[in-house]
Amino acid sequence: SYRKGGYHAVRVGDSFNGGRYIAQRKLGWGQFSTVWLAYDTRSASYVALKIQKSAPQFAQAALHEIEVLSAIAEGDPSTSKCVVRLVDQFKHAGPNGQHLCMVLEFLGDSLLRLTKYKRYKGLELNKVREICKCILIGLDYLHRELGIIHTDLKPENILLVSAIDPAKDPIRSGRAPILEKPKGYPNGGVTMNFIEKKLKRRARRAVVGISERRASVGGIGGNPTVERCLNGIDMRCKVVDFGNACWADKQFTEEIQTRQYRAPEVILRSGYSFSVDMWSFACIAFELATGEMMFTPKCGQGFDEDEDHLAQMMELLGKMPRKIAIGGARSKDYFDRHGDLKRIRRLKYCPLDRFLVDKFKFSDTDAREFAEFLTPLLDFAPEKRPTAQQCLQHPWLNTRNLIQKEVKSESSLGKVEVGMSKLQIKVGK
Ligand code: ATP
Ligand code: MG
Ligand code: MG
Repeated sequence: SYRKGGYHAVRVGDSFNGGRYIAQRKLGWGQFSTVWLAYDTRSASYVALKIQKSAPQFAQAALHEIEVLSAIAEGDPSTSKCVVRLVDQFKHAGPNGQHLCMVLEFLGDSLLRLTKYKRYKGLELNKVREICKCILIGLDYLHRELGIIHTDLKPENILLVSAIDPAKDPIRSGRAPILEKPKGYPNGGVTMNFIEKKLKRRARRAVVGISERRASVGGIGGNPTVERCLNGIDMRCKVVDFGNACWADKQFTEEIQTRQYRAPEVILRSGYSFSVDMWSFACIAFELATGEMMFTPKCGQGFDEDEDHLAQMMELLGKMPRKIAIGGARSKDYFDRHGDLKRIRRLKYCPLDRFLVDKFKFSDTDAREFAEFLTPLLDFAPEKRPTAQQCLQHPWLNTRNLIQKEVKSESSLGKVEVGMSKLQIKVGK
């Protein structure tokens, strides 16, 4: 991908936009871009520099993303809305062409990294609630105030807010920013291609058994936000990646959302609106709490991924009402006229709360309450799903599992072992 029309190869110390930004290290990448931590010499702070591939279709996509990000920034001068902020934009000419660059506020690790760090075991419910609130604040702003649908909500597009404790942040705690190319560049230095290959190998190792989608997206981390988050410090996050966002009244494509987070009306081509984001949001909340994706559709003998996906939805959420099942432009591919799947006949129904207890060992109370929160968001009828604003009022978000730290025993070395006891206490709003 580092060829004409593709990514721009960056070396540590490279400068951008007339010397204003200096590349520090790579933060992540996507299909369209690489994202670098950069030092902004004008504001003496760190920013994320998203450098788009140069071919016309990527430039076009970047222009669209900039348009959306500008609308987001204009409507939120206080930057309190849990959505990433665009700081600057410019063009950068390199050997592979002209690259549109977006300068974004520097955020931390993605939720995907957070769940990986927890070895796919799921986060404490209190943390899930905090993260859910942030995402909902972001969605409420996008949907209600701007009329924007994100259309690609998933864990890697939600980033933790970094720099909560500047003293512990190695980048901020006195280690001077890199303002010049390290010695040995440009010839003796490590090329991005080399690093890229190494990272790919590492990523491949890290994702054995995990969906392919995850093997292909990146984030090299090295950012301490995950640890901070798990240590219980002020949990916040922001929604990023507006490359696929659209306005509800100005849609570009019928094919939206990453497979596992895709709403049924998108599969059936019944038209969509803001509520597709609410569906994805519920999938993310489930994944945070359990460590596993809610739906993992696969094709099998005689049926494709879409039909398996619909089957999995019904197994967890009950039979799709006939009217909805047969109402989409693609319905005939999957459903017969009675509203039954054509090729997958026997469904193993297991309601969400049972599933949480049986598979993930939730307590009955936790399972019931969490399922009560999620189920309305996963209504097959899109217009019945609660809006982000309504969802923010849900009592589950204001419930608390109080975790009480207590001293269990003292070893002979004088070290204190801290035990955790879970006390279920409800706290009113
Ligand atoms: P995709 O192919 O998923 O659409 P993309 O090319 O549009 O990707 P983004 O999702 O915006 O790119 O960014 C890619 C990765 O870069 C993110 O998953 C994240 O790891 C990192 N990243 C993006 N924006 C920031 C930011 N503001 N601060 C820190 N890291 C960021
Ligand atoms: Mg992305
Ligand atoms: Mg994108």
